[in-house]
Amino acid sequence: MRRFDGETLLIATHNAGKLDEMRAMLAQTGVSVVSSSTLGLAEPDETEDSFLGNARIKAHYAAKASGLIALGDDSGLEVDALDGAPGVYTADWAETPGGRDFSLAMLRVHDALLAANAPKPWHARFRCTLVLAWPDGHEQVFEGAVEGALTWPVRGKDGHGFDPMFVPEGDSRTFAEMSADEKNRVSHRFRAIRALRTKCFT
Ligand code: IMP
Repeated sequence: MRRFDGETLLIATHNAGKLDEMRAMLAQTGVSVVSSSTLGLAEPDETEDSFLGNARIKAHYAAKASGLIALGDDSGLEVDALDGAPGVYTADWAETPGGRDFSLAMLRVHDALLAANAPKPWHARFRCTLVLAWPDGHEQVFEGAVEGALTWPVRGKDGHGFDPMFVPEGDSRTFAEMSADEKNRVSHRFRAIRALRTKCFT
């Protein structure tokens, strides 16, 4: 396992919600953090059919383009009654001709649950795969997941993506009803970052 040996970590994302969360979770390492959007890097196409494959694309593209150690995140929501959909295609369910719309994406998931006659509780989990990539091509992989259930109607105003529809196990609030700190103590991304911090930063 190679330890983080740079001065600046590049977070290979253009998603402001993910960036805020990862920045907060990495604050205690003391490392300085920049993002692909700040550096004006392109967003590579996510052409793989797994979280690992797409996290690899993002991390290696950013590391090569910048010369910095880069952290790629691919994540999504798996719904048991939908055979794991939307899964690796979670962001695609939000696509509209005018850009991404997560209210519509959540409605699509709800419609699919009704069409499948899925009995409640609607078990689901968020998954997160992180790839830490060095400009020389070395990589390390970290994973995290959080189990929970989907609720309807959606609740809460905070968070991003599917947060207003997801109630993590052990709580009755959706991620969007929690403070950022509360979500960041239990989330899939937190679990993956905790593994990364333990192996590469402590
Ligand atoms: P990608 O990793 O960029 O392919 O996008 C994954 C998609 O999964 C995001 O656009 C969100 O819709 C969803 N997602 C991933 N993590 C979270 C989360 O923590 N809360 C809510 N939605 C999430």
